[in-house]
Amino acid sequence: MTILEVENLVARHGLLTAVRNVSFSVARGEVLGIVGANGAGKTTLFRTICGIHPATTGTIRLEGSDISAYPPYRRVAAGLAMAPEGRRLFSDMTVTDNLKVAGENGRKGFWKIDTVLDALPALKPLMKAIAGGLSGGQRQAVAIGRALMSNPSVLLLDEVSLGLSPIAVVGLYNSLAVLKENGETTMILVEQDLDRAMAFSDRIICLLEGAVALHGKPGELGKHAITDAYFGLGKQVATRA
Ligand code: ATP
Repeated sequence: MTILEVENLVARHGLLTAVRNVSFSVARGEVLGIVGANGAGKTTLFRTICGIHPATTGTIRLEGSDISAYPPYRRVAAGLAMAPEGRRLFSDMTVTDNLKVAGENGRKGFWKIDTVLDALPALKPLMKAIAGGLSGGQRQAVAIGRALMSNPSVLLLDEVSLGLSPIAVVGLYNSLAVLKENGETTMILVEQDLDRAMAFSDRIICLLEGAVALHGKPGELGKHAITDAYFGLGKQVATRA
């Protein structure tokens, strides 16, 4: 069942069109990976879906409702959450309080402190720590926990592994694998590491200069085609969703 549908989305920065007629849909419980070179439009796409950046044209439907005109807070209430928008933690508050604030301001549902800690066990020993004193990897885990506390039906993860040590990345993806298995949360993730994106995603979209250059299941597309689309070699447009 489709949970999020993006149709002909266009977003601009002044005269520059950063997102060009992007359309895709995501099914409940699915993981969609978005890849593309620097400047391909991935962050602008995410920010536009969340309502932080204005769409020029296009439609966004969440669980069948048109949320295109909603301000960001109403999109959160409707079930969208983005990390690392949540990376901006309250740095002078404890991890517990960071999670609680998100819980109080979001939707109620499966994700409470207990269930978040089951999915992100790395947070357990940190609950009393002040968020500002945590390492980059720990802050990312808190940011994801915090996004979950709003009980999103769709979680957007923008380069959550950026700047983390290899061991922290493994820990983070182990946590995301728990979320994936649990099936409660649909995920759309931007990931620079193609191998990781291919291994973790059910489907991949490759953006090139703001447009969808390739779209399909990683195993069917193959790394060669994804790499070509990533670098704009041949500029093929193919869909095998
Ligand atoms: P990266 O991987 O480097 O974060 P990205 O795929 O997320 O890149 P965006 O950050 O969405 O891409 O940028 C898409 C295009 O929009 C780029 O050409 C970028 O220079 C431009 N852009 C992004 N933010 C702004 C801004 N605030 N003002 C003007 N142009 C912008």
